[in-house]
Amino acid sequence: MADTTPNEPSNTPSNKPLPVITDLTRPFWTAAKEGLLVLQKCQRCGTFNFHPKAWCIDCGSRELVWTPAQPFGTVYSFTISRSVAMNYPGWQAELPVLMCLIDLDDGARMYAQVTHCAPEALHIGMRVQVHFESISDEAGIPKFRPLLAA
Ligand SMILES: [Zn+2]
Repeated sequence: MADTTPNEPSNTPSNKPLPVITDLTRPFWTAAKEGLLVLQKCQRCGTFNFHPKAWCIDCGSRELVWTPAQPFGTVYSFTISRSVAMNYPGWQAELPVLMCLIDLDDGARMYAQVTHCAPEALHIGMRVQVHFESISDEAGIPKFRPLLAA
């Protein structure tokens, strides 16, 4: 996010930046608060869009409906952060932080954190499943963890 304005400490007990929630993105954050992964699905061509947009990335239709997505994906790429940037000490306790591009089973590519995974175990092609963390009174955030074998 381009926004570098610090958030109110009362809303960020772990002292991390919160997302800037707009009318366009609110359904994503509120669903995550309730433990549900939703994405915009195009009613014309069926494409799942991420991040939220006003029109379909594939066909341009504006008929996008927030739709539950399959909570599974595959690591497309990743980076491992071993230091805290931007003066947000809330990240310090979580280092190293595994930031990934996840190809969701429904087709969209999502930027997300992978947790419950040793850095040396993380790899491209790893199967992951979503879980959620509450980050404010109105928002949760989807994160991913290695898919447990059945
Ligand atoms: Zn479309």
